[in-house]
Amino acid sequence: MVIIKSDEEIVIMKKCGKILADILDRLITEVKPGIKTGQLDVIMAEESEKRGVLPSFKNYRGFPANLCVSVNDEIVHGIPGERILQEGDIVSLDVGAKLGGFHTDAAVTIGVGRISKEAEELVSATEGSLKTGVARAMSGAWIGDISSAIQHYVESRGFSVVREYTGHGVGRELHEEPQIPNFVIGKGVLLRKGMTLAVEPMVNVGDWHTKLADNQWTVLTADGSLSAHFEHTIAIADNEAEILV
Ligand code: MG
Repeated sequence: MVIIKSDEEIVIMKKCGKILADILDRLITEVKPGIKTGQLDVIMAEESEKRGVLPSFKNYRGFPANLCVSVNDEIVHGIPGERILQEGDIVSLDVGAKLGGFHTDAAVTIGVGRISKEAEELVSATEGSLKTGVARAMSGAWIGDISSAIQHYVESRGFSVVREYTGHGVGRELHEEPQIPNFVIGKGVLLRKGMTLAVEPMVNVGDWHTKLADNQWTVLTADGSLSAHFEHTIAIADNEAEILV
């Protein structure tokens, strides 16, 4: 069942989203060659505590870290640790925060130092597809409108969308209904004011197939190609979606 949030609940989520955006900005400034991904985990924990939110991913279904850090061919759910970021890597930071009983969820992919032309194109196409998808999100549209906008945008730029992982509703739970695929699979649910959704295209240079790492968490491209990920939490309104983070 898709849960509609009241105006008051959306105010809480907005506050949560603002804090999460600030934390994400702080993390982004730390991404440079030579930093250990585990250091980003420490910063996520410290910044969350300082700002009075809980990192949503910590212990979620047993996830062992405060955020996901996915490098190069890692699509999502990378576990921060001893890996040292190198010039030319692309790194996806996926973060969630909980405040007043509500979660928000966001992700960005950024380059470490100078990155290849192909990596730049991938990151730009993924970010562009999120913008295009969110622009279609409003009361009276369908989930499928978001999916279709994302898929067509990504494929027109020569990349592919991951199919085995999707966006989702978000609120009292980190993952709520409905699923938001990044490819066309029917109309899906009708969007209504007060729905809060995490829209999150995951885009590969090569084909869309994925594989699971030995740690049973990290999702990689099956062909070893680069992957990028951007995510906003949005609230559906009448003629638009408001971006909460
Ligand atoms: Mg998400």
